[in-house]
This record gives sequence, C-alpha cells and structure tokens, in this order.
Amino acid sequence: MSTDVWRFWFQKLSVWYQLPNGQWDTGTIKSTSGEESYISLVNGNVIKVSTEDLFPANPQILEGVDDLLQFSFLNEPSVLHNLKYRYTRDMIYSKAGPVLIAINPFKHAQLYGNDFVTAYRQKTTDSPHVYAVADTAYNEMMSDGVNQSIIISGESGSGKTETAKFTMQYLAALGGAGGGIEHEVLKTNCILEAFGNAKTSRNDNSSRFGKVIEIHFSYLGKISGAKIQTLTDLVCMLNVGSPMKSPDSLAGKVQLSTSERSFHIFYQLCAGAPPSLKEKLDLRTAKEYYYLNQSDCLVINGVDDANKFNKLMEALDIIQISREQQEHAFAMLAAILWLGNISFQAIDNENHVEALAGEAVSNAAKLLGCGVHELIVALSTHKIWAGKDGVAKKLTLQQAIDTRDALAKFIYASLFDWLLEQINKSLEVGKWCTGRSISILDIFGFESFKKNSFEQFCINYANERLQQHFNRHLLKLEQEEYEVDGVDWTKVEFEDNQECLDLFEKRPLGLLSLLDEESNFPKATDLTFANKLKQHLNANPCFKGDRGRAFGVRHYAGEVLYDTNGFLEKNRDPLHFELVQLLSSSHCQLPQLFASKMLNQSSKPASPLNVPKQSVGTKFKGQLFKLMHQLENTSPHFIRCIKPNARQLPCKYEDDLVLQQLRCCGVLEVVRISRCGYPSRITHQEFAERYGFLLSETNVAQDPLSIAVAVLQQFNILPEMYQVGYTKLYLRTGQIGALEDKRKQVL
Ligand code: ADP
Ligand code: MG
Repeated sequence: MSTDVWRFWFQKLSVWYQLPNGQWDTGTIKSTSGEESYISLVNGNVIKVSTEDLFPANPQILEGVDDLLQFSFLNEPSVLHNLKYRYTRDMIYSKAGPVLIAINPFKHAQLYGNDFVTAYRQKTTDSPHVYAVADTAYNEMMSDGVNQSIIISGESGSGKTETAKFTMQYLAALGGAGGGIEHEVLKTNCILEAFGNAKTSRNDNSSRFGKVIEIHFSYLGKISGAKIQTLTDLVCMLNVGSPMKSPDSLAGKVQLSTSERSFHIFYQLCAGAPPSLKEKLDLRTAKEYYYLNQSDCLVINGVDDANKFNKLMEALDIIQISREQQEHAFAMLAAILWLGNISFQAIDNENHVEALAGEAVSNAAKLLGCGVHELIVALSTHKIWAGKDGVAKKLTLQQAIDTRDALAKFIYASLFDWLLEQINKSLEVGKWCTGRSISILDIFGFESFKKNSFEQFCINYANERLQQHFNRHLLKLEQEEYEVDGVDWTKVEFEDNQECLDLFEKRPLGLLSLLDEESNFPKATDLTFANKLKQHLNANPCFKGDRGRAFGVRHYAGEVLYDTNGFLEKNRDPLHFELVQLLSSSHCQLPQLFASKMLNQSSKPASPLNVPKQSVGTKFKGQLFKLMHQLENTSPHFIRCIKPNARQLPCKYEDDLVLQQLRCCGVLEVVRISRCGYPSRITHQEFAERYGFLLSETNVAQDPLSIAVAVLQQFNILPEMYQVGYTKLYLRTGQIGALEDKRKQVL
C-alpha cells in the first residue's frame, strides 16, 4: 500500500478515506509520513488519517463502468461507489467479471418487456442485464450442447424470485414454440407463490422454499417441457400452522409479529372462494381462524387476495389440474384452518386434556374424511408401545397442541409435494426432447441475525454447499485449467470452505449426525446437545464452542452464533403414528395418499414401532445433495441479488448493508481472480484459422502455434497480455476484441 501512496502523492491522484461515520469519500494526498497522511478534501480542508486506511480511487473516466473488471484499482470503497453511482441512475445491473450483480430497485424499472427482449436477442445493447445472462446461457446450450444453470442467490428480499421470473420470461420469448407450453411454464410461478410464499417483515412476497426450475428445449431450441424441484420440507413444516415467526420468536420468545402472515393461499382462499365452494368447505373469513389471526396482519397493502385467488384457479386450469382435484386441494387447506381452531379442555387433575367437541373438530373431521371421535382421540392421546402392546397415554395441553400442529404441518407439506407432482406431470418433457436444459435456481441466501436458530442453520449449510460450487467453478477450475495447460500462473488465494462443510457433514462426528443422534435420545435437551457438540467438534477450526446452549460456526460469509434452543424438537419429525393411521383410514383421496406416501418411505413394513422417520435435517441434506448433483453437470452462470436497504424502499442505498452482502458472496475475490486471469481462451488451431490470414509475412512456419505467435507479434500484443499453453492461447480481457477489429477492417 505504501508504495501506492507515494505514487499517488507524486501524481496527485485521489484516494478513498473513511469519514468518522463510516462513509467513504475521496480526497488527494497532500503529504505522507508513512503511517500518517494528510488529505486535502474537495472543500479545501485538510485532515490527518492513517495511511493504512487509504485506498486508491479510480480515475474519473472509469466512473460508473459496467464491469468491475475494468477498474484500475479494485477495493471495497471503489466497488461500493461504482455500484451506487449506477444504482442512482437506474442502472441496477453491473458485472463483476463473470457474475451479474443485480441491485433491487424496489420500484418499477423500465428495463423489461418486448423491446428489451428484442434488443438483447439482436445484441443491439450489451449493458449488463438478466436478459443478457439468459441469452448467453441459451446460446451456449444451443452451440455447445451443454446443459446450463443460472444460479440466483441473495438475502431475503433482494430480488431473487423476480430475477428468476425475468429469466423465465426471456427464455420463454426465445424458446416459445407457440404451442403454449412456455405459457404453462410461466404460470407455475403464480401457483408456487400462492402456496410457498408469505409476507414477512423483510419481503411482502417472501418465498419460504428454494426451487430449481429446469426448462427443457428441443433440437430447434424450443421449450418442450419443464421440471420443478424444491428445497422445501424444512420451511413448509416450520411455518404453517403458526403465524410466520421472526427470528426472535423462533428462539423461544413468544411474540406476535405485526407485519407477518402465513402462506398467501390461506388468505386468497378465504377471500376469493366462490360461495358454493365456501359452503362446501365451511369457510369463514381469515380473521376467524386461529392460525391466521394470531398476527394482526391479514392483508397486504396493494394486494387483492380475492383477485389473486381467481388468477390462481386460472393458472391451475392452464396447468391442467382438474376442477375436482383443485377442490380436493382446497379442502385440505380448509381442514388445516379448522384444525387450528380446535381447542382443548382439562379432563383430570394431572394436566391432561382432550380436544373439545364442537364446530372446529367436526368440520376438520369432515374435510379430512375421518370420524369426529377418531380425530379427538388422535389429538388427545399418544400410544406408547411396549412390544406388541400399545398403551394410550393422555396428553398435556402443550403436547396436544404440538400434536395438532404437527398434523396441520404434515398435511400442508404433503399438499405442497402433491401439487408439485401434478405440475411436473403436466409439464413433463415430451418424447422429442433432446435433453438440453437450462436450470434456474432461486435459493435463499446466507442469513445471520442476532439470534440464529435451526432454520438459519439449515439455510447457511445449503449456502456453504452453493458457495463451494461457486468457488469450484469460478476459481478452482480456472486455476486448474491453467496448470494443466502449462500456463505460468501465480495462484490467487481464495477461501476454500471444505472444512466448514466437513463440520456439517462428517459422520459420525459432524453437526448433522450429532444432531440426529441426540434427537433420538428421549432424555436429551438442547443443553446436552450443545455440550455434545463442544465435546466432539472443538478441534474443527470452523467450530466455536460458546457459553451454555450456543455454538458458533465460521462460515465463508462470517461467523454465526447459533442458539440450540428448539433444535432437537425441530429436527425430529413430530408426527405420531396414530395421526398417519387416522389419515390412511380416511375416505378422501388426498389424506389417504399422504398417509400411504409416508408409510412407504421406508423399505421395512410400517408398524407402530418403525414408522419410517427421517429427521428434518437429514431430509434437507438429501434434497440438497440431489440438487447439487443436478447442477454438477451444467455450465453455471451466477447472479447475485443485492438488497440496497432493509425497508423495501426505492432510491435508498445503504453502503454498510450492500458491503456486507458483497462480502458474503465473495464478489471481490471473483473480480480479483478474473483480472489476474485470461478470460479468452482459444486453441492454437482455431486462432491460426481465424487470424492467420492477417499475417503480412508469409515465410512463417505453417504449424498453428507459429502462426498464432506471429500474429500476436505483428499486432504488438504485449507479452503480459497473453500466455501460450500446450493446447490453447490465453488472452487477457480486451485482446480478442482488438484482433476482431483488425479482422473486420480487412474483411
Ligand atoms: P427474494 O426472492 O430475494 O426474497 P423478491 O424477488 O421476492 O426477493 O423481491 C422482493 C420485492 O422486491 C419484490 O416483491 C418486488 O417488489 C421488488 N423487486 C425485486 N426485483 C425487482 C426488479 N427487478 N424490479 C422491480 N422490483 C423488484
Ligand atoms: Mg423469493
């Protein structure tokens, strides 16, 4: 740094310095004595700062460049300033080398629609855009025949789901066959959002699940079908049945949140069901249901739930889910709502309770297709098995409530899975398909709150996996290719997160295994779990024991302190065998189906003693592995969404918040590595064929390598601008462009 400072002093160039309030500003170095420097500010004042805290600023001509790769100086204040400069001019997209950065505008941005689609298709514009990413992916798929993936990540509310929708729209425009399948594919968004999204304090339309939508194309590049995979169980199971919980309440404090709702579909159904359906399902208004009215937020500003319900039914029609099936699904939703209204009364002096007979129980029983008495028994007792004999144990109020909620959650999670299956059946890829596809990933980003619980634990684990994928592709593979091809290359250091993944995944001594082990001990508590972790994992550098129930994990994006409160309970699948039995005895189609799916999960015959149970954590890991496996064989494109402020406001850019997100996703590292690297690669042969004819001298040896080197020399391409590998030439940014210009002049 100090040599830079001297150079800057001599050249009177500007530097970034930090104001006491944390903001960055530019000034010029007036004098420096090594550790301390005097900076003249724009207003004429001079201040003293620590030289260490100065960063060179980029020349004015680079202000607002659309790719951070073009910077002369790469540092955090320059990146922050550049993004802000663009953002305030409604340029929400920028490139960080191979990564697209998208900053949520929180307002209608004039950047989408047919004209823009055409512009990117015809390449009449090259400014960074989600359309450009989709276009590149599509073209690579068509020309190389390799499946592609577009990985969109970011915090809640940063714009992932919207970005995924724009991507789908662009691909539908490119690959629309006119047969309507692209229309069906787009309609899935409406359905998935109704069932999988909810209003939270951070996002009025927050997806409570991660998803991958794989769009398939024919030989001719037309959309031929789609498949949707989700990373859901966790979120579905945790959120239904109770109002959305803020991180604080998840950590144990019971707190009614004022700005959060449960899944949209419940409010849509209550508001928009036609009278005949309302009557059939004994539907009331949202505020009459306990599961919904625990939050005082029942409507969302500017959103008409009834209208949304009509749109949903249209979408379900388009996806070819029959009206009869739709009604079955709505009945399950109504059943869940009525389950929530069931209350309990004390029946003895030992705190035991029984479900109260009444409207709620009878409506729930009717909708579930089971007897009222059977439902009451299933919600009020739990059979303990000793050998072949079961003894019915009465439940306490808390146990009974947990049992009721577990049933509601199970039904909701099963319904979501069922719906997804129907969608996938309807979009199933036709026979003529080539197997070419583009997968779009919309997945929750890294989370770190004051209190972090099991949900953050799972989300952050998934993000470690995604980060590894990111590292591998952008950093590791690049370096490996240079090495294999004999290119002289000074390694750029980057954080490898394998150790952190080991901490989660190692068996038997990893976080997930230990959690499962402890969850199987009936006597275990959150504290014994925390102690067990400390006992076995202290040697892992990514683990940090903490006081009491807490433990820390050093994630790639920073250290997170988790509170084990509730971990065991959330990890166990709380569904009692009696409830599964109750559903399997139903005379309705869906409850039966849900129960049989549950019972068929394991290869062993189901019995009360071995209800096939997989812990929530293990299930999540399974889904994650399946998803990563699918990504392995694709060529990835990355989009990082950034939330410029926490209040969902337009035109508000908070430096700290943005910086923290940029750090979380390693954007600077990527740029650094890309700048050191040689992004253009071309085989000697291809190069010679393309540019060989430009040679003025003809007495060059005829092998491709000699021709290539002669071309480079003839056009004075500096030696530091390229590398010659065994098979390919590697060129720095901009060099191929220059050669192409020469070529055009001649042709
Ligand atoms: P995430 O999926 O990351 O949680 P969303 O995609 O749901 O975030 O975006 C949250 C909100 O931000 C949206 O409901 C929308 O109001 C706004 N938003 C996001 N991206 C854009 C965009 N490109 N243009 C306009 N508004 C956007
Ligand atoms: Mg989302």
